[in-house]
Amino acid sequence: MPDRNEDLFAHAREVIPGGVNSPVRAYGSVGGTPRFLAKAAGPYVTDAAGREYIDLVASWGPALLGHAHPEVVEAVREAASLGLSFGAPTEGEVELAELVAQRVTAGGLKPIDRVRLVSTGTEATMTAIRLARGVTGRDLLVKFAGNYHGHSDGLLAEAGSGVATLALPGSAGVPAPIAAQTLVVPYGDLDLVRAVFSEHGDRIAAIIVEAAPANMGVVAPAPGFNAGLVEIAHSAGALVILDEVLTGFRVHPAGYWGLEVERGSSYEPDIFTFGKVIGGGMPLAALGARAEIMDQLAPAGPVYQAGTLSGNPLSVAAGLATLRLATPEVYARVDAAAARVADALSDALAAAGVAHAVPRAGNLFGLVFAPAAPADYAQAQAQEAWRYRPFFHAMLEEGVSLPPSVFEAWFLTAAHDDAVLERIAQALPRAARAAAA
Ligand code: PLP
Repeated sequence: MPDRNEDLFAHAREVIPGGVNSPVRAYGSVGGTPRFLAKAAGPYVTDAAGREYIDLVASWGPALLGHAHPEVVEAVREAASLGLSFGAPTEGEVELAELVAQRVTAGGLKPIDRVRLVSTGTEATMTAIRLARGVTGRDLLVKFAGNYHGHSDGLLAEAGSGVATLALPGSAGVPAPIAAQTLVVPYGDLDLVRAVFSEHGDRIAAIIVEAAPANMGVVAPAPGFNAGLVEIAHSAGALVILDEVLTGFRVHPAGYWGLEVERGSSYEPDIFTFGKVIGGGMPLAALGARAEIMDQLAPAGPVYQAGTLSGNPLSVAAGLATLRLATPEVYARVDAAAARVADALSDALAAAGVAHAVPRAGNLFGLVFAPAAPADYAQAQAQEAWRYRPFFHAMLEEGVSLPPSVFEAWFLTAAHDDAVLERIAQALPRAARAAAA
């Protein structure tokens, strides 16, 4: 007899393309029926059939404190009682902008003076690019293969052949001339970036890079890579957009940039983008930079950007409450929980004789079915990705919900306590054996 998830998926496909509102949710790469979630609390999610799972998706990152943290929910409830949306400035926006600028400091650097709030990570990166083009008066953008920055046209470009080739559209509906404004370079090799700059340097507005890539699996940048990008870009009069939508406020109070600066790699990107944790589970994202760059945005400057729901008071309340609760102890807990699950994952796969790597970048980690951690997208794609399907479903049967794609990071939260971590460790050996088959 079909369960409630199956009924809902069948119905959803009649009224929603593919049955989902964001493609990865459809379980396309793992097969089976997506779980339609009815509620979430702490480390758990509950599906429409009433089954509870330990969750390692965390809404794809935002739930740093665990789902529905009571103080965050209360802050949203209180904000809701005062009105859902004003389309006018609010005091909370000022507090949130200031908090972001204060948190993103490290090694004596304070690279953010001003912050613009938007609603999604896609909007944040899209705006950052327009701003970089407005500031430099140049058109071309350098991005790395396998880095994801949201779904705006120019960022869905796919690498053509050859390092310095102008990109091809990565999706139907993206005009070739727009994709051709993006140069797609394999990740991780500064010499390739130098080669691109030596050919096109005077036309490049910016390099955009994930602070630590986590959308082709997790790939920790080599020490000095991000700093090297800043050096190359600046010497050609271009900017660097450090995309911290996923890493920002998740891996460290000052993002992956803060983690790197703390580890001794001192560099200053020009524009930061944030999303996910900054909204605490509500639609909110941001970009931030020094005043001279940010003041080019409308109405202060000529680069247009706007949004009916930008700085929405419920989102701002959730973001403020989340960041205020995200103390160093929270990061220590998440770091420890991530290390424990990553170790248990590696142990289970080793015991089952499965070639694997568990690459880590701060408290982010992922699973790769290859003997060594990939350094770029081509290597990430070369793994035995088919092993993830049985692995994923075995975990689901054991009551642990993983990201439904091998190319996604696993997300821990501060609500994953000892008992929950132990249950994950207990579930892993069976899944590892399933992956070995
Ligand atoms: N940038 C990065 C690094 C991301 O991981 C994502 C989403 O996963 C985005 C941008 C786009 O954010 P959103 O999905 O909120 O549009």
